[in-house]
Parts: sequence; structure tokens; C-alpha cells
Amino acid sequence: MSLNVAIVGSGPAGFYTAEALSKGEGADVRIDIIDRLATPFGLIRAGVAPDHQTTKRVAEAFGRTALRDEVRYFGNVKVGRDVSLDELREVYDAVVLAVGAPFDHLMKVPGEDKLGVYGSAAFVGWYNGHPDFLSLDPDLNTKAVAVIGVGNVAIDVARVLVKTPEEMATSDLPDHAAQAIQAAPITDVYMIGRRGPVEAKFTNVELREMGKLEICDPVVDPAQLPDTVGEGLDDRDARLKARNLATLHEFAERGQGEKAKRVHFVFYASPVEVLGGEHVEGLRLERTRIEGGRAVGTGEFFEIDCGLVVPSIGYRSVPVPGAPFDERACVVPNDDGRVADGLYAVGWIKRGPTGIIASNRPDGVTAADHIRADLGAGSKPGRETLETLLNERQVRVISYADWQKIDAAEVAAATPPAPRRKLVTLDDMLAVLDS
Ligand code: NAP
Repeated sequence: MSLNVAIVGSGPAGFYTAEALSKGEGADVRIDIIDRLATPFGLIRAGVAPDHQTTKRVAEAFGRTALRDEVRYFGNVKVGRDVSLDELREVYDAVVLAVGAPFDHLMKVPGEDKLGVYGSAAFVGWYNGHPDFLSLDPDLNTKAVAVIGVGNVAIDVARVLVKTPEEMATSDLPDHAAQAIQAAPITDVYMIGRRGPVEAKFTNVELREMGKLEICDPVVDPAQLPDTVGEGLDDRDARLKARNLATLHEFAERGQGEKAKRVHFVFYASPVEVLGGEHVEGLRLERTRIEGGRAVGTGEFFEIDCGLVVPSIGYRSVPVPGAPFDERACVVPNDDGRVADGLYAVGWIKRGPTGIIASNRPDGVTAADHIRADLGAGSKPGRETLETLLNERQVRVISYADWQKIDAAEVAAATPPAPRRKLVTLDDMLAVLDS
């Protein structure tokens, strides 16, 4: 009998698991990939920056996996609403949680709840057309923006806010976000690192991109840059950090620049309060120094005037109803991906929100190996029972063929050189399918 596996989540972790299972040796396997959204590919569609289309090409490989005979896609099916995890575990030999980390961590500073503070999960979701965040409708009527954090997401946010329409022409930035960003009077974006340039998490390709923008200069205070990365790093880290430091030195040598917009890299500064009335008017920060790798407050404070704050300080998983959850670490407790009998975890829900897309591949391979080793041949009915359940509950399942129609409609509606014009609501997608 076939081994029946349900994968909950169709982002990179889910698809790498499906790929590893379908190409693995041993008993026949049938793989059903379930996603609460109509559209597949998780962060590839809704997280990767709209102007980083090359990165999104990995979806082509995932698409080939989706089209394999043994694989089915069940879009618009939410576990916990349309079917419970317990039901899935009864029906499938193995269930793999690949649900990622879709929410924001809080800065935990006073004033964080003011209008004009939007965590990066929400803000990136909004400008990428994620249906959960369409109603965010952020007020961008400000000259200055503070982006908290110096990771790659912070860089994405800063870059998308300062690029010209021409620079975004090859992107899939949805209409609502393109119009709002282009109408905004933003001239200055402050990227705030609570530690120093050596500790910054962004990678060098992304950092260098900030030095090649059409109407925006990177601004770096040379006094904040050490000459070397210092001691205690392994060779690889030292090499990567030295590259970032060299790029920042190069930016610093350019001075303030003469372009219309600026992205300021501000290090050794920790947000302590969001200022203003109902709406954000500024940010109060404490200068820091590094002790034992940690940022420690110096007691010296300063303020930045800004009307928009985007904390980009890392993502957070939330519990899957019916699965255990470690509230402190924000992951599903697991032993190398094994959660419980027949239950596995991969990707950010397994190990936290770090790493590039390809970092999820080993998770998928490990989970597939465990599933085959633990279960051998299967004994549960799988797909047909799920289909019957969803039918009885009148769930409008979006199949992979449906997604291909939505995809084709988006591509056909694009104004070249844009690759697609995203449909952003389920209703608009259903209209394509029902026309
Ligand atoms: P990240 O790389 O962990 O960066 C988070 C940033 O937020 C760090 O600078 C961190 O500082 C700061 N931070 C955390 N808590 C803070 C607080 N309470 N107050 C002030 N600052 C705080 O996370 P990310 O940018 O969300 O990216 C997630 C993963 O996706 C990363 O592995 C990233 O490389 C990857 N990604 C890759 C790309 C790409 O390849 N182009 C694009 C986007 C994302 P500390 O270091 O001091 O904690």
C-alpha cells in the first residue's frame, strides 16, 4: 500500500519535502500539499522582494514537483478551519508541518501600538499582495521612515520604499502598493542596528545593491565603522563580515551624496520608545556599545523624526491547533524534525526564522528519510478520504491546475517588462476560474 503523506504549507520547506519524498527510494508514496492560501509557494510569492525576480525562479522547480503524478495541491484549505490536524493524522500515515513563521515579533517598547508602526511581516505582506495584509493600507505620507533591524528583510523594505517606478518596472509589485509608494513623499529611510556593522545580519549582495540605486544614496557615518572585523569569528564569517565592512567603508567615503533620497545606516542604537500622539511622529533611541556580543545601553539618548516605523526584527511562528508548541522558542518542539508518531516539522516552524530558501532543502531531505524509515509502507487511506471530507464541508479547493490558470491570467495581465500583475484577493482568483 502507498505511503500517504500530507504536507501542511506550500512554501520552500513544504515543496523541498515533497521533492525529497517523491524522488526517494522505497515504497510508493502519495503526497498531498495543503495550503490555506489559494496560491502556492509561501514566501516565494509573498516574502521574497518583488524586485528580486531571479530568486523567485525556484518556484519553477517546485511547479515541476507539483505536477508529478504522486503529488496533489490542495489550495484554499485551512487546517484548523476546514480540516483538523487530528483528522489529517487519522487519514494520513505522516503529516509534515511546513507552516513557516508568518507573524511579527514585537519590539516591546512603549508606543509600538501607534498608527504608523507596521511589522515587516505585515508590511512586506502588504506590498507583496498577501491577502491577509491587504487591509493594512499603511499611511506613507511622511518624509522619513525608520526601519528597525539590519537584516535582509530590513534591506528589502528600505530598498522597495526608495526605488523609482522605472527600477521597479521588472518587479511584480502589485498596483495598490506601487501607487501608494510612488505617491509617498519619502526622502530618508533610517536603518537602525542595535549592534554594530560587523554584527549586522544583511548579506553583501543585498548591501551592495543599496549603493547602486537610481535616486538614492547610502549614508554611513565613518566614525561607526571599525577598521577590521576583529577576533573570534570563524574564517567564513570573518570573510563575509569583512566584505560588508569594506562595502560600508566605501559608502562612507561617498559622504552624504547628492541624490534625492537617502538610506542612512545607523548602528549602535536601540529603540526605546515610539513617539507621537495617536500616530507615529518619531523614535527615541539609546546609544549602545557591544559587551560580550550583546548591545548594552550607554544611557545616551537621541531622537529621529519619522512618520512610519517598520520593525524588521525577525518573524514568529504561531501554534498549529492540535500540535505541541514551544512558546518561548516559537517552534514546534521536535527531535531532528520528528514531533510525534506520524507528525514531522520542517523549515521555520521546526528551527526558527533564519536562512535562505535553499536552507530548507536539508530539512525536507531529513523529514523524507525519517518518514520512510519510521513508516515503511503505509496503512492509511490518505487523499480520497480528505477529498470526501472537504467535499462534505463544501470547501472550494484550488487545485494545481486552477493555480496554473490564475498564474496564466496574472502573466497575461502584466504590462511588460513586469512578469505578472498579481491578483490579490480570493474573489478575483475565483472570478478567473469561474469565467
Ligand atoms: P535577521 O536576519 O535575523 O535580522 C533581524 C534584525 O533585527 C537583526 O539586525 C537583529 O539584531 C534585529 N533585531 C532583533 N530584535 C531586535 C530588537 N528587539 N530591537 C532592535 N533590533 C532587533 O531576520 P530577517 O531580516 O527577518 O531575515 C530572516 C531570514 O531570511 C534571514 O536568514 C535572512 O537572511 C533571510 N532573508 C534573505 C533574503 C535574501 O537572501 N535576499 C531576503 C530576506 C530575508 P541582532 O542581530 O542584534 O539580534
